[in-house]
Amino acid sequence: MSTTANLGYDVFVNEPPPQDGFLPNGEPKRFSPMASTLIYGGEDAVLTDPGMTEDQADVLGDWVAAKDRNLTDIFITHGHGDHWFAAGLLAERFGARVVATAGTIAQMHGSLATRPLLWDKVYTGIPPSSVTAVTVPDNRFTLEGHDLVMVEVGHTDSDDTSVLHVPDLGLVVAGDSIYNGVHMYLGQSAVGGFGPWRDAIDKIEALQPRHIVCGHQNKQLDDDAGRTIAQTRQYLDDADELLRTETTAVGFFNAKIERYPAYLGRLVLWVSASSLYGVREHPEGNPAQIILNSWL
Ligand SMILES: [Zn+2]
Repeated sequence: MSTTANLGYDVFVNEPPPQDGFLPNGEPKRFSPMASTLIYGGEDAVLTDPGMTEDQADVLGDWVAAKDRNLTDIFITHGHGDHWFAAGLLAERFGARVVATAGTIAQMHGSLATRPLLWDKVYTGIPPSSVTAVTVPDNRFTLEGHDLVMVEVGHTDSDDTSVLHVPDLGLVVAGDSIYNGVHMYLGQSAVGGFGPWRDAIDKIEALQPRHIVCGHQNKQLDDDAGRTIAQTRQYLDDADELLRTETTAVGFFNAKIERYPAYLGRLVLWVSASSLYGVREHPEGNPAQIILNSWL
């Protein structure tokens, strides 16, 4: 928790939903923990990325309710369903508006379309969802007079991602642009490489945040902006190096675990490795299909 004058924020990291199957090293598959941020003033509050399943929404909703603020808005950083399929439940419970950039809203429709092919095959308990998010003028809204700015950063772990900048807190809520102690989802960089992601990190650094809340983080770690930015860059550099030196997806998976033994989210690491090597090994194939199959 961090507070400045009458503005503060607090972070809730959820439990990954249950899942069938095993990774190449024999570990059970398990999704990554995801973080929601509550930015609050004396009376009102704004929530980010409310999660995916009904169970997650219940637990998060109780946490929000205990803060005893009027929830005005729910901001979605990017289109991936793990960040927003439960948004409708929270919006209804608190009478809040759902907001996002136009790019994110388009990506949310895309995630909804792939839901039966991917998300519902892997996870139970995802509520019926529809895209109710709206844009705001100049990607800017306020909380008790403090600016909250949606900054578009382009392709990171998916297309058209954004972050929420709260200048008065020195805070960036980064979604999946920056990671913190959790394996990064590299699958959607299988075509095009990590250049756009590195550009996005530069854009976030230029905002000069002191704190970064990452969409996927180990809750034991702090939210130091300099450290999380440096580690996110290093993870991409290591991925580029291992793509040159490792000849198989399993080799990449094992080498990453050796370099990052404490990182959570090895399912996502395996999906990333399968996608990167699958696309490389099947240049005639459809990358979107190869990436989707890597999840199943
Ligand atoms: Zn995510």
